[in-house]
Amino acid sequence: MKTIGLIGGMSWESTITYYQLLNEMAKNRLGGLHSAKLILYSVEFAEMEALQASGHWQEAGEVLAQAARSLERAGAECIVLCTNTMHKVAPQITAATHLPFLHIAEALAEELNRFSVKKVGLLGTRYTMGERFYTDILNTAGIEVLVPDEEDMQVVNNIIFNELCCGQVREESRKAYQAIIEKLVAQGAEGIVLGCTEIGLLISQRDVPALPVFDTTQLHAKKAFDFALEN
Ligand code: GLU
Repeated sequence: MKTIGLIGGMSWESTITYYQLLNEMAKNRLGGLHSAKLILYSVEFAEMEALQASGHWQEAGEVLAQAARSLERAGAECIVLCTNTMHKVAPQITAATHLPFLHIAEALAEELNRFSVKKVGLLGTRYTMGERFYTDILNTAGIEVLVPDEEDMQVVNNIIFNELCCGQVREESRKAYQAIIEKLVAQGAEGIVLGCTEIGLLISQRDVPALPVFDTTQLHAKKAFDFALEN
């Protein structure tokens, strides 16, 4: 089994999910006492969020590039960046080591194509929904992306940063997300992408019975574990 290098802490609330999923996959696929081999470099999220909000992406990318170098020195055999948003600086991270970088949007695109889903509603931070670094990857894979309007984007984004990243899961916020999802469905979405690693703490498939939900945390963790088991 290969050793997975995780860059986590963005937020740590969702990094826990990665740790749990990877170990559950080891248990379910290999049985017995098996568990995942991994190394976690967990960053200080308040520092990262301040760099995002002030537009200092280059500096944020350098922090994550350093984290990737540390993981490589420690023996990691791939890099898994446990956040959708920070994939905005993926090129800086991939350039920092010789290791394979397992891109979260590519894991998502592979799954959408496997299910022949061609038009999705995307929920994530305002960076992920509103900029091109993420949606371009889906578009290139032949997938059309619908995002909420400006006002709803703000609601989705605020719930992520003010609640989910602080470990708060509120019924009222689940209802707000469901209402926004309904609007995306009315526009023709064939699937809903949980394009932020914390959204799975609030919304799951049973909250959206009408159409398939694609949780990027789960898909990314699965891609990482598949890689770990490859020869
Ligand atoms: N974990 C989140 C994501 O998947 C948001 C936190 C961040 O800004 O990195 O985008």
